[in-house]
Amino acid sequence: MSPGIGPSGTPPRRGQSARWRGALDLLRLVRREPGITRTAAARALRLSSGSATDIAARLRDLDLVEESPVTPTGRGRPTTALGAHPAGPVVVAVDIRHEDYEVAVVDLAGTVVRTERDRHPGDDPGWLLGRLRTSLDRIRRRYRHRLRAVSIAAAGTISHGRFVQASTLNWYDIDLDALQPRRTRLPMLVGNDATLAGVAEARRHGSRTTLYLTVEVGVGGILVDEGAPVTGATGAGGEFGHLPFGDPALACPCGAYGCWDLDVDGRAMARYRGDPPPRDPRSYAGTTIGLAAGDPDAAAAVERCATALGRGIAGLVNALDPDSVVLGGLAGPVRRLAEPALTASYTSGLMAFRRAAPPPLRTAVLGDRASILGAADVAFDAFLTDAGLTDWANR
Ligand SMILES: [Zn+2]
Repeated sequence: MSPGIGPSGTPPRRGQSARWRGALDLLRLVRREPGITRTAAARALRLSSGSATDIAARLRDLDLVEESPVTPTGRGRPTTALGAHPAGPVVVAVDIRHEDYEVAVVDLAGTVVRTERDRHPGDDPGWLLGRLRTSLDRIRRRYRHRLRAVSIAAAGTISHGRFVQASTLNWYDIDLDALQPRRTRLPMLVGNDATLAGVAEARRHGSRTTLYLTVEVGVGGILVDEGAPVTGATGAGGEFGHLPFGDPALACPCGAYGCWDLDVDGRAMARYRGDPPPRDPRSYAGTTIGLAAGDPDAAAAVERCATALGRGIAGLVNALDPDSVVLGGLAGPVRRLAEPALTASYTSGLMAFRRAAPPPLRTAVLGDRASILGAADVAFDAFLTDAGLTDWANR
């Protein structure tokens, strides 16, 4: 098994010291299932009722969880619902998209307690970094010790923790470390937006090995194994859109020829309809999809994209062996409009032994919240460790 491809846990489990044994399990459970009752948590973690009560009380005293009384049903003993403490830890999740960005403060229960969203001029990463820096400084002043990590989802290729290439924005090698607050250094995580969306979706779909694919401008995605993304040696894995599944005569902005990206999105639809390359492929695709019900040319363009999508999914399933495939972004509506074409090319591209029980194609459930929730997921993974809790207790 090559490094980085082993199961890494859901979320990754690290060695637990005696001090936090039980506490970390309970916090991770509350994160996964906010509002779970103490009784249900005890059952899930195989704890006695007394141990669960003790651990919950300790976490309440540390401002980590809040317990709210729950009216018992039937003859059950009184219990409490476990949620995020109002003075508890928070993380900042940032989503840098093609046209806009969002900065959200997220608590242990996954609730977005504060958010701001604005457009950015696509040609000026310096402007965007300045805005993000101001916003992060404001959040740090407001939340002080409660702020535990900053996690950034970026619409570009991330390698060695750096934002190295956003081909469709023409951005190269952006140093996100400039976002660190002045005096304190916070853990800062950076991930590709589709990778983080895949983490969030896979954890909510509950399959073991999930192939997540999303179509926006091109195809992004990631293989998520037991909750952890398989991102390769430098973190840049998952650029499935740049597999050579497309027309080898077409040059991709990434620098390669014949990329799958060019066959499945708004750029492809424009080519198929005889239109010039659209300035905004995402909205061109949205318009084409909207027209497909009454316009045969638009319907045919969507169908060709569905066929290209299905063929690529089959190739990835043959290579990666997931137990389910989750489709996000425009892949959802493309599939709805051209299900027979997509299913036919998916099935015909599978190796024979897979056809009896092919991995099911599922539709993503988090919509455009997936990347920011995935960024918050990995930020809380980083906090919910022995060191993270010890640091919190000593704050
Ligand atoms: Zn490419």
